[in-house]
Amino acid sequence: MIDLRSDTVTKPTPAMRRAMREAEVGDDVYGEDPTVNRLEERAAEITGKEAALFVPTGTMGNNIGAKVHTEHGQEVICDCRSHLLNYELSMLAWFSGCVARPIVTADGILRWEQIHKEVRAVNPHSAPTGLIEIENTHNMAGGTVYPLEVIEEICDGAHESGIRVHMDGARVFNAAAATGTSVREIVARVDTVMFCLSKGLGAPVGSMLAGPKEVIARGRLYRKRLGGGMRQAGVLAAAGLLALEESPRQLPEDHRNAKLLAEGLARIPGIGIDPAKVQTNIVIFEVTGTGLAPADISARLREKGVRINGISGTHMRAVTHRDVDRAGCEQAIETLAEVVHSRSLVSAGG
Ligand SMILES: *Cc1c(COP(=O)(O)O)cnc(C)c1O
Repeated sequence: MIDLRSDTVTKPTPAMRRAMREAEVGDDVYGEDPTVNRLEERAAEITGKEAALFVPTGTMGNNIGAKVHTEHGQEVICDCRSHLLNYELSMLAWFSGCVARPIVTADGILRWEQIHKEVRAVNPHSAPTGLIEIENTHNMAGGTVYPLEVIEEICDGAHESGIRVHMDGARVFNAAAATGTSVREIVARVDTVMFCLSKGLGAPVGSMLAGPKEVIARGRLYRKRLGGGMRQAGVLAAAGLLALEESPRQLPEDHRNAKLLAEGLARIPGIGIDPAKVQTNIVIFEVTGTGLAPADISARLREKGVRINGISGTHMRAVTHRDVDRAGCEQAIETLAEVVHSRSLVSAGG
């Protein structure tokens, strides 16, 4: 099966399996798991933050991130297609007691110029802005990357207004690979950053939340409240450490494969995509011109050993990763061309 539904489907490498088996462990709720402690220290070093927290999922990391910066009754400014707003079960409202103030963007990239118009102060009518959230790379906008100067402008503007910035950096290592900028530089001015070990980096489980010591210490308590105190989690952290040290070098290849995929898809009649806009490992394409619905294409692809999901009534998303190589991507293009072509033969015939 050529599985391009997401980079979350990556399986742990043999080296990760070995490291997991051999991991030194202890009770992490007592702070006694040496492997978790090492992972948290490395994540702090790599992000250039004072401290980091190992969390089971990116969703937990983002929501602890939102919680530590906000109070109930505030607004969180984010992009309208953000993961935080659309794919985290309203946790922003449920857990942090905040409402999202979404901004519409063409490419998922917020600019200070748009944000500052939405910043609200306390007054008798509106809820004050508690946080600005930016997603880098932006998943549903097609893996788009924040230019460094845009992040800096947002953070400087926010901080001057007394507002903090959280980066949903689920794929911030992809952003680093695409721009040749270190993760440390990318996140230098944001207050907190969450990134996933379990996506393109290939670990089986886990994400990190990094930020100031005091903030992460409070985050640790929220993690426990949410049921994320994980005891001998060193078996997971061991894979996470390898993901941090070894996996980033794989990402440029994932990006090359995404480009190849996009270029191949662009040649299929009825498929709409501009390969020049593919910056990282996410390829979003329109299928209306094929006369087939995404769900139909998805079902037909699956019969032929390729998995790609629809993300709306008109668009599909393919995500490249280490478990599908270049030949796999070429195969996916060919299979999609067959699926679309067989449909056009049917419609030509009747
Ligand atoms: C995957 C993802 C997350 C977190 O996902 P989990 O499945 O909870 O680990 C957060 N933000 C973005 C942009 C993502 O793609």
